[in-house]
Amino acid sequence: TTINETGWNFDNSYSRLPQTFFSKVKPNPVQSPELVILNEPLAKFLGLNIDALTSETGIEVLSGSRVPKDADPLAQAYAGHQFGHFNMLGDGRAMLIGEQVTPEDKRVDIQLKGSGRTPFSRGGDGRAALGPMLREFIISEAMYALGIPTTRSLAVVTTGEAIIRETELPGAVLTRVADSHIRVGTFQYAANWRPVDELKTLADYTIQRHYPEIKGDENPYKTLLQKVIKRQAALIAKWQLTGFIHGVMNTDNMTISGETIDYGPCAFMDKYDLATVFSSIDREGRYAYGNQPYIGGWNLARFAETLLPLLHKNEEDAVNIAQDAISEYNKIYQSHWLAGMRAKLGFFNEEAQDEALFTSLLKMMQKSGADYTNTFRLLTLDKPEETSIFDDQEFANWHGQWQERLNRQKESKEAVNELMRKSNPSVIPRNHRVEEALEAAVTKGDYSVMKKLLAALKDPYAYTIEQEEYCKLPEPSGMPYRTFCGT
Ligand code: AMP
Ligand code: MG
Ligand code: MG
Repeated sequence: TTINETGWNFDNSYSRLPQTFFSKVKPNPVQSPELVILNEPLAKFLGLNIDALTSETGIEVLSGSRVPKDADPLAQAYAGHQFGHFNMLGDGRAMLIGEQVTPEDKRVDIQLKGSGRTPFSRGGDGRAALGPMLREFIISEAMYALGIPTTRSLAVVTTGEAIIRETELPGAVLTRVADSHIRVGTFQYAANWRPVDELKTLADYTIQRHYPEIKGDENPYKTLLQKVIKRQAALIAKWQLTGFIHGVMNTDNMTISGETIDYGPCAFMDKYDLATVFSSIDREGRYAYGNQPYIGGWNLARFAETLLPLLHKNEEDAVNIAQDAISEYNKIYQSHWLAGMRAKLGFFNEEAQDEALFTSLLKMMQKSGADYTNTFRLLTLDKPEETSIFDDQEFANWHGQWQERLNRQKESKEAVNELMRKSNPSVIPRNHRVEEALEAAVTKGDYSVMKKLLAALKDPYAYTIEQEEYCKLPEPSGMPYRTFCGT
């Protein structure tokens, strides 16, 4: 098979931006690339031929050892606030090999992560370890199945080379698929270090790529800001509603497309606790579960600042436009969150007291450390007696109010149940199951545990018998779960 048969169909619009937005990079051959996991449905969506993709030359492409025809590998330049501190960054261990135009005429970035050093690597080795790349594969695909906008994972290839961390680890390359990799940090880079005409070029490019319908607007940059605020508010509401903790919401990890990106230290919350932090480096809880909506607003304010020169020729007017847009964020976020909670509890209409009902349930959960996913799952299954908050007069009162609230709407019990099932996943990638899958894969080369987990995560709202084992909580352990960046 030849690479042409694979179905790569690149058109690299990003490389037509001013050269200051990227650095062209050369492929980095690896010792012995081996495919360990492939996302076949995604490959088909991309228009790729599975046989050609999994052939020797196909896998060389996925490892970065070979550049397919019409690919134009580059590392993107961007800046970012990392834990509040502004830095010049850029793809230090990733390369965009091209934009695939799919058979359905959709344009997506094909990016290799862990494929070697770039001019933006600073002290880093440009490499990635197998465990974290598999982790990104599992969690991003789980997010996709949960209905949360996200970058996706096409494949993980081991390199046959060891990488040096605290110990030697097997190296790997992940192929990431995204609507784009344009970040708040990309705009920060342009706004801080490039002339306004380049910032405008980036904004126009972004509009063309993600929001073409606003091109003719009177002030398209204002609309761009409003649209990004809407997408990010909707995204973060979905994170909160499913208990997803991103872990490193730096501005370089916030996309303009509204997709979740950068699955480093992220993890799903088990016990409901607003203060939950998994990332070992987030010592002050900046990116704690309960803080994510606030940080989303903070990051969008940084985005708004970058657009000031484009929003209005008069600075004061520009600031007013930006502030008006930003001041909508909380409202938009809150309306998404309320709508999501209504669905989780089976409400079809709105009542003024709904929010109080949500808050009192969450307060009980916070007090007793109830499992977030399972509490909603058990309410969906009408088994409140199995929740850990059941033995409480407060819960009995709440449950009575909830039932009365359901009875006040015209929809049938069946309709309520259907809505709740669609809105409350029974399976999430629980940390102990993810670790178990990675352990088997990395230390024993046994991918069956991971594949079984991926199968259970494929339809998290299916409530099948096979999925039940994934609802179980881990054995109590004295050690809090910890995640790590950049491994
Ligand atoms: P992150 O915290 O994953 O968003 O990464 C922050 C920055 O560090 C990005 O510019 C990455 O490209 C860079 N980076 C992370 N790991 C490495 C590595 N092993 N080698 C080079 N650059 C890296
Ligand atoms: Mg990043
Ligand atoms: Mg990362």
